[in-house]
Amino acid sequence: MRKLLVATNNPGKIKEIKENFKNLKLNIIGLSDLEEDLEVEEDGQTFAENALKKARIRAEKTDLLTLADDSGLEVEYLDGKPGIYSARYAGEDAGDEENNEKLLAELEGLPLEERFARFVCCAALVDLETGAEHTVEGICQGVILNSPRGKGGFGYDPLFFIPQKNKTFAELSLAEKNEISHRARALRGIKEILRDKYSAEIM
Ligand code: IMP
Repeated sequence: MRKLLVATNNPGKIKEIKENFKNLKLNIIGLSDLEEDLEVEEDGQTFAENALKKARIRAEKTDLLTLADDSGLEVEYLDGKPGIYSARYAGEDAGDEENNEKLLAELEGLPLEERFARFVCCAALVDLETGAEHTVEGICQGVILNSPRGKGGFGYDPLFFIPQKNKTFAELSLAEKNEISHRARALRGIKEILRDKYSAEIM
């Protein structure tokens, strides 16, 4: 079975990607399955630049078909921040809780109807054998709550409320999140590319 390297160390993301690709005959491995990994500085100015850089570097090192993503939260009132800096919003070593606290502090006193936000994900697929590179972007719109709700997911999930579902991302099951999330939408595009270009090997 063809291997697909998913270039992330985030177990939450690997779980989501495996769930999304469960019907494809691909042996999905993560960075933790490699003997060693390379540090990749995320110094791009866009999600796409960062996703491509993360995928290219690992593809060059392993010769594997490689998928990487870069994602983040864009808050309208904060002019799109934290954006590409979502993972380190409250500082280089900040964890999810500190990032969420900083976001709540920045939005303190702002009424719910002005707390629009969207998650953005760019997924990049790099195949060094053919030289092909593909990027697909996915978006999911929501609202930032005044306090966290729910125990699932990761990152900003407990604050990200989907009015149509009347739940935060952290209150959705993985299957429910995978129907509507920014990452799922980007991955659906990548799945089509995998089917089109690699169908002989992976169907
Ligand atoms: P990346 O790993 O460089 O793509 O950074 C993504 C960061 O954006 C994560 O560390 C989270 O803070 C945030 N993020 C991206 N996708 C999600 C999601 O689905 N739920 C919650 N937070 C997310």
